[in-house]
Amino acid sequence: MVTLPEALRLGQAPDGGLYMPDSLPFFSGQMLAKWHQADYLTIAEGVLAPFFEGFLELSLLRTLLQKAYSQTPGWEEGVELPLENYAPQRYLARLDRGPTASFKDFAARLLAQVLPYCYPSGYSLTILVATSGDTGSAVGEAFRGIAGVRVLILYPEAEVSPIQQKQLDHIGQNVRALRISGKFDDCQQLVKTAFLDPDLQHLSLTSANSISIGRVLPQIVYYFYMYAQVVQVPGEEVIFAVPSGNLGNSLGAELARRMGLPVRKIIIGTNLNQAFPIFLATGAYHKIQPSLPCLSNAMNVGHPSNAARYLDLYGGILDKEGVLYQMPDLPQMQQYLAGYAFEDAATEATMRRFYQEHQLILEPHGAVGCLALEKHLAKYSEDLPFPAIVLETAHPAKFAQIVERVLGFAPPACPVLEKVNQRPAQVQALAANYPAFKDFLMTQDA
Ligand SMILES: *Cc1c(COP(=O)(O)O)cnc(C)c1O
Repeated sequence: MVTLPEALRLGQAPDGGLYMPDSLPFFSGQMLAKWHQADYLTIAEGVLAPFFEGFLELSLLRTLLQKAYSQTPGWEEGVELPLENYAPQRYLARLDRGPTASFKDFAARLLAQVLPYCYPSGYSLTILVATSGDTGSAVGEAFRGIAGVRVLILYPEAEVSPIQQKQLDHIGQNVRALRISGKFDDCQQLVKTAFLDPDLQHLSLTSANSISIGRVLPQIVYYFYMYAQVVQVPGEEVIFAVPSGNLGNSLGAELARRMGLPVRKIIIGTNLNQAFPIFLATGAYHKIQPSLPCLSNAMNVGHPSNAARYLDLYGGILDKEGVLYQMPDLPQMQQYLAGYAFEDAATEATMRRFYQEHQLILEPHGAVGCLALEKHLAKYSEDLPFPAIVLETAHPAKFAQIVERVLGFAPPACPVLEKVNQRPAQVQALAANYPAFKDFLMTQDA
């Protein structure tokens, strides 16, 4: 067993396993009533304080939360998470109000504030992130300006969209983009090799990637927050529908449920990378290799790493290769979880229909979430009366070309994406070659 700061420093256990809290706090109905309609910071502090006990004083945690979730220039003030009531009892939650217009900003921003406290003071560390797009910019923006930290983001030259590339190249300050002439796998390989290289020990390399428990805990908070905004009477059950790839977002809902949030069902929507929905339906786990390219490209994950955390919570064991060693309690999983997978044609049709029927502009990931909810409710009419919240995980302008092709008009501009180009670029091209990368790490300070 390790402490929370150790788990945050290491990211992943030395044996390749994932860290999980050994116990979870539980919030009673009284607490839920107290949080009814409360603001984001109040709920974040209440939900997270038990995890940080013995590590961060409550007053420090409060300060770090304020810094993490301070107003992002460009967005309107005081709206951390808009909820659009598009039909009776149906809500679309837009988790796009951070600096990169992605739900990943919620977790990355808090981790950036907390991580320096996991090291002795005066320490400096280097964060390496291999990214195929959204994770890199969310982590980079979150750590921009954090003292004692330098961030290097490796991205594959030919595999990121023009918008993503701009976001990555223009972060600046202590964050540098490395444009690698190779594929995402090459970027990942460079990072993995560097972590194991004894010559680089002195650099204190760390990862901040999506399997860190520090990326999961902050994602519990917004489920409590959404609940507090939507229910009429605290105590009633709600349904969440979550577009999913690596399953980290929906895992926040699962943990929230175990912490006392009245969650009736977590609906997991995927594209054709449907290893988890198939597992929920059949009990057989087959990773999809290689992953399938789909329109909702942030969910092109053939073997979601958080599947292992889900199985662990229900008494099963799944290893990092995707081998099932112990079957979890599948009927119990099916009581709380449902998974649905969709082809791109269905995703596009949903984007068009939701615009026509509800005047909602969705990008492909959010559309998968909406469709998963519809499919579920068509099958289980007993769930119809409950409030249901679909998570829209990015701003439509991040997928402007797709939205324009499908809907026939460009989505509204996104204020934070507009600002990106006004900063100078800080990017360097590198070959997908370890000696060149190592040389860069050893010689460049920022
Ligand atoms: C990362 C991402 C997802 C998938 O989230 P997971 O936590 O990996 O399930 C969904 N939508 C968007 C826009 C993303 O960037």
